[in-house]
Amino acid sequence: MGKVLIIGAGGVATVAAFKVAQNPDVFTDITIASRTKAKCDKLAKAIGNPNIKTAQVDADNVDDLVKLFNEVKPDIVMNLALPYQDLTIMEACLKTGVNYLDTANYEPRDEAHFEYSWQWAYKQRFEDAGLTAILGCGFDPGVSGVYTAYAAKHHFDEIHTLDIVDCNAGNHHKAFATNFNPEINIREITQKGLYYKDGEWIETEPLEIHQPITYPNIGPRESYLMHHEELESLVKNYPTIKLARFWMTFGEQYLKYLDVIQGIGMSRIDEIEYEAPLADGTGNAKVKIVPLQFLKAVLPNPQDLGENYEGETSIGCRIRGIKDGKERTYYVYNNCSHQEAYKETGMQGVSYTPGVPAMIGAMMFLKGLWKRPGVWNVEDFDPDPFMEQLNKQGLPWNEVFDGDLEL
Ligand code: NDP
Repeated sequence: MGKVLIIGAGGVATVAAFKVAQNPDVFTDITIASRTKAKCDKLAKAIGNPNIKTAQVDADNVDDLVKLFNEVKPDIVMNLALPYQDLTIMEACLKTGVNYLDTANYEPRDEAHFEYSWQWAYKQRFEDAGLTAILGCGFDPGVSGVYTAYAAKHHFDEIHTLDIVDCNAGNHHKAFATNFNPEINIREITQKGLYYKDGEWIETEPLEIHQPITYPNIGPRESYLMHHEELESLVKNYPTIKLARFWMTFGEQYLKYLDVIQGIGMSRIDEIEYEAPLADGTGNAKVKIVPLQFLKAVLPNPQDLGENYEGETSIGCRIRGIKDGKERTYYVYNNCSHQEAYKETGMQGVSYTPGVPAMIGAMMFLKGLWKRPGVWNVEDFDPDPFMEQLNKQGLPWNEVFDGDLEL
């Protein structure tokens, strides 16, 4: 049915590539390209499909991308590199007539900041070119928006409160590790919190607001209010929402280490000067390094956590609103086992949960179900065929009607 080009060969891309390869009726031609071609080759070998092609690309460079897109001629590119590359890849799509999908909003390297405005600014250009761009098609953002769209379509006349709750109750047996790219993860968690109330955005200190929330099959876990990008599009698309928040769990040990990392300046994203030894041993030279990037180099690679990872994740939407004049609550969620994810793809649950929806989004596009010129968030499309695929592709969902939302 269609040609796909996956950019990136990290944790999320690995899962997405496995899933793409499991659906050969939809994805008839697969290329994986990343900064390090050896990682793409290793991934293609792990999948075991000799028809998967691989390539090297610097996704920060539009000309490099254009050259690759002209060679591969994909119908859609799945951007599973880092948020820094979103705009260069979108530019290259426009220059070559390729459709686009990603799982995280653009972030400038020198500013940790969630905002869709940079990518929404491409709407007219994608529309004029007759191309579709699907933004934020991982789990959260991604499934969180699809769940909300499904709730709005089938279970509510008006949504009043939306709480996205994200719990990782897994144990990887490391003193400290992040579950996805450490640089992106630590930038996200050390930002100020933000939530939406009665038409206003309210800022909090990082992780200032927290409370225990009970997760199915897991139990109560301390959950911290954070800013998350999907809140920005969801309150715009569902204007009856009065309160929208995002909660994520963190263990005590994780927070203790994070506090130290911040306290000693290792989470800084500005450049510092460092005296590095010369390769020939003749002395030192002053080099510039970004402390957080240096930290990434010494932390465990999230892709290596899977083997000993126990437990599960639980991510869902807790929604309050009105249906047929009556108050209603609705909770829709998925629980994902780290070990099951590892057995299938070699990656842990935090890569599995965004990797599967990225594949489903590309499938929706190639099937013509999510195909509309412009730049869109996932809730702009029909949630039903996506929800159906979640059940088939490894992320089944559960619903609770009129239960206690705790929030
Ligand atoms: P990883 O760090 O594991 O992988 C990133 C990949 O991108 C690596 O293969 C890396 O190559 C490649 N890459 C980085 N820079 C470039 C470049 N300039 N050109 C080409 N390739 C490049 O990250 P994850 O897999 O953990 O995360 C991938 C994306 O998924 C991120 O944007 C993240 O924010 C998002 N995400 C979304 C979630 C959601 O639910 N929506 C949840 C989790 C993650 P190399 O190995 O050579 O450095």
